[in-house]
Amino acid sequence: MDKKKYYISIPKVDNLLNNEKIIELIKKTNRELVVDIIRKQIDEVREYINMSQSEQSIEKKLEKIIEDIENSLNKLISSKYKKVVNGTGVVIHTNLGRSVISKKVSDKVSLIIQGYSNLEYNLETGKRGSRYSHFEELISKITGAESALVVNNNAGAVLLILNTLAKDKEVIVSRGELVEIGGAFRVPDVMTQSGAKLIEVGTTNKTHKEDYENAVNEETAALLKVHTSNYRIIGFTENVSIDEVTKIGRKHDIPVVEDLGSGVLIDLSKYGLAHEPTVQDSIKQGADIVCFSGDKLLGGPQAGIIIGKKRYIDKMKKNPLTRAVRIDKFTAAALESVLLEYLDEEKAVKNIPTLKMITQPISEIEKKADELVKKLNVISNEFEIFIDDCYSQVGGGSLPLERISSKGVVIKYKNISTASLERQLRQCRIPIITRIVNDNVLIDLRTVDENEIDLICESLKEVLKK
Ligand SMILES: *Cc1c(COP(=O)(O)O)cnc(C)c1O
Repeated sequence: MDKKKYYISIPKVDNLLNNEKIIELIKKTNRELVVDIIRKQIDEVREYINMSQSEQSIEKKLEKIIEDIENSLNKLISSKYKKVVNGTGVVIHTNLGRSVISKKVSDKVSLIIQGYSNLEYNLETGKRGSRYSHFEELISKITGAESALVVNNNAGAVLLILNTLAKDKEVIVSRGELVEIGGAFRVPDVMTQSGAKLIEVGTTNKTHKEDYENAVNEETAALLKVHTSNYRIIGFTENVSIDEVTKIGRKHDIPVVEDLGSGVLIDLSKYGLAHEPTVQDSIKQGADIVCFSGDKLLGGPQAGIIIGKKRYIDKMKKNPLTRAVRIDKFTAAALESVLLEYLDEEKAVKNIPTLKMITQPISEIEKKADELVKKLNVISNEFEIFIDDCYSQVGGGSLPLERISSKGVVIKYKNISTASLERQLRQCRIPIITRIVNDNVLIDLRTVDENEIDLICESLKEVLKK
């Protein structure tokens, strides 16, 4: 094939810039951006001619150069970070942004960030204040701890704690607690980054009091307990409870640190879930420092909350690392607002979306399922839809064995395969993330807000049009 004629027929940048459609695109955005995309598109066409063996397809590629320029410009200027509907039933879904923030909290954030605020300004004295002051007292009141500090996330909290208390010293931890939390966050790796030397004791399934005792020496700077949030060892097991570890710490005057991971502030067993030790329990049992995430079971923004003895927290505040892992004003505003809900447990369960979803009664979930089915039947009678029992999960490494009974809507459509329907829903303008159960697409209504039912219908209409 003689490709020369095709190379010659690639339009020049200047010519394209005179095209009516392109002039329109420049008006919509700007010249520089469009020129850049034209150049890239021309390179692409050249490459295409180079690779392709079909005259027909080369001609087609040349014909649609303007269309391709427009599409690639639109792709560039449209937002790629989108709202999605979570139909997976995993409440704290790390890939989908973990905890959902209520309208009330997001209104507060909006108010704070749309103007100036007293983030680090003391209104009483008119002098510099602390960004932590807005919720220190609140956290202490809720958890019973002497003092508190909040950093960017819980991994940062572990890093800061160990770096402050145990740099170049030894930290004792049970082999049964050296977990990987996900996203390649491994407890031993973070410990190493902090400059602390990890002393592993016990075995995977059993660790005894004596194991800690025997490892203590003059180099020991902390005893660390890690809540194995995302897995359980069942069977022939033994681990040393936090109150026993704190006894050993007391005896040798060594601080005891507990990384609770999810950090639940309310006894969820009251709401029919398995008992998960609360933050308050750890403090009561004598842990000197406790840390946990802000966006897991607490239901707030991404953050790492550190609480405990004032003398250790004060030391952390002076550590230069604190500046490197500090929270921003968005987080400070959201966190204070969520924590205020915890002053009244009933309100917290009702107003914090994460807790509300986890404790939502099945009758309410079924109501949402009924409504979705009803609305889908109006859209088309080509769907095969039915309500099925399913199980939701807490997620975020919280309560790993807990399966919460829920209701889901199963959707089948003509002879579209399950995999294809799942993908098409995921690729809609408002993506619907579903779960495949028994080879069917299922939407678990526990994680779907009433307001989102219409969005699911919109997306299914989009699938119908394809
Ligand atoms: C989730 C988790 C972390 C990490 O918390 P992030 O807030 O995601 O940084 C650390 N430790 C444990 C035990 C966890 O469960």
